[in-house]
Amino acid sequence: MSKIALKNAKIYVEKGVFAQALYAEDGIIRAVGKNEDVLPLCGDAQIIDCGGKTVVPGFNDSHMHLLMVGIGMAQADITKATSADHLVEIGKAFLESHPQARKRGIQAVGWNQDLFVGDKRLPTRWDLDKISADIPIILERVCGHVVTVNSKVLELMGVTKDSPQFPGGTWEKDDNGEPNGILTELTCYRANAVFQPYSDEEYTQMFLMAAEHALSRGVTSVQSNDVGSAPMPLDTVFRVIRDIYANNRCPLRYRHQMTFPSPEAFARWAESDKKQYLCENDRLTLGPLKLYKDGSLGARTATMRQEYRDDPGNFGVEALSDAEMTAFCALADRYDMQVVTHAIGDKAISDTVGNYEAILREGKNPLRHGLIHCQITDLPLLERIGRDDLQAMVQPVFLDYDMHGVLSRCGEALSSTSYAFASLKKLGAQLSFGTDSPVEDCDPFANLYTAITRKDHTGAPEGGFFPQECVDIYDAVDAYTLGSAHAEFREQDKGRLKPGYLADFVVLDTDLFTCDLMDIRSANPVLTVVGGEVAWRKDTL
Ligand SMILES: [Zn+2]
Repeated sequence: MSKIALKNAKIYVEKGVFAQALYAEDGIIRAVGKNEDVLPLCGDAQIIDCGGKTVVPGFNDSHMHLLMVGIGMAQADITKATSADHLVEIGKAFLESHPQARKRGIQAVGWNQDLFVGDKRLPTRWDLDKISADIPIILERVCGHVVTVNSKVLELMGVTKDSPQFPGGTWEKDDNGEPNGILTELTCYRANAVFQPYSDEEYTQMFLMAAEHALSRGVTSVQSNDVGSAPMPLDTVFRVIRDIYANNRCPLRYRHQMTFPSPEAFARWAESDKKQYLCENDRLTLGPLKLYKDGSLGARTATMRQEYRDDPGNFGVEALSDAEMTAFCALADRYDMQVVTHAIGDKAISDTVGNYEAILREGKNPLRHGLIHCQITDLPLLERIGRDDLQAMVQPVFLDYDMHGVLSRCGEALSSTSYAFASLKKLGAQLSFGTDSPVEDCDPFANLYTAITRKDHTGAPEGGFFPQECVDIYDAVDAYTLGSAHAEFREQDKGRLKPGYLADFVVLDTDLFTCDLMDIRSANPVLTVVGGEVAWRKDTL
């Protein structure tokens, strides 16, 4: 029987209420209160003296992609390269520190010659051959439409100066007509196809690396969309993750958000035996169907009711037709499945709300259908989301970047009611926080800071971006814990530090409730506990 206790802590219980001590047995909190009331119950428990530090429930990221975080962590980080030569340096250093890459090769994403200092020429095969000409190397431009490969990849693709072009893409030539290693569009896929697929064990290592990172940031639960989102077959994702939990290799709680290529594929899955995706370990659970309704605001592909102010005639790009969305929702309703949908633009959101309204039950939302992102809204739309009791699974940290673009894209009036976290809550939506990692780091503290201040990481603008939509620290922490638990039907035993709840909590080096707001951003966990067991700790507590 595992026992753990905290004393001399500042334990967040609920708005304005704090306790000093906590005792948990078998992963469940049994007592919370004053030292003198709780400690006599603890028997031979491991007792941690928190020395006055603040303790909050473990953070629960209501939408992210954990396996994709791991895949990214296993690759070279080329996003900050300042020249073609710098790319070579990064590649060489990566090979030094990643022995497995010396066999498999290097696949990495994110260079952008616009950010190069001085010479802004595109990198070529001759640059990449300086990293290695013996193993395949592919470095993808940040846009995803252009890659540079080394000579080994060209050789494996069979491309020589006399080769014909492939359909749907190009390989580019230098002045002598030699392929220079720059490929575009569909030809990029052919280059990626020369790499060995990762093994289950390699995916496992990536998943565990990402989980360790999340735990080190105080995240104890993730609602993660890897099925249908990571670049591998759905069965592989299910199998790799199930085996990790079956072998008790990961303390982080994981709930699947699942994307299927078609309503038919979803129906086949819904009819299948769910036992094959799960194991004895209840930290792994199956969650909602995850759909994509539109693109992003940054790329102006979020679907809008009015044209983009800074791109007349553009209303965005619909990712899922109304017919398909209707078919998905009807099936989900038949199988009693929750649906959560990526919807950013106001048209995508209102269309999705319409699809949900068709499957509400007597006007209520017992399956807890939800909107992921839910960014661009006007007041009537916010009221409708609240009235329908929908989940609003938002990423406040997106504002750090988006506050600099939303005005020019959507105008003042619509911007003032967008990213409307306070209104969503006030109007009755079920608010939860996440990061969409790897889009943003899965760090809760930058996310909390942005939700509370609506300022970017430099502290601008003074007073915050439409500050009427700021939430206070209590509502922000609640959205990230109890709110996220509600999104997964667990609010009765998850997301609070009270008797009967799961012993998932984080001891912090900063008092989020009294510190300077800027300091919230740089807060750190010192101890992360999941199910009453230490899952991560800083060297010294
Ligand atoms: Zn996502």
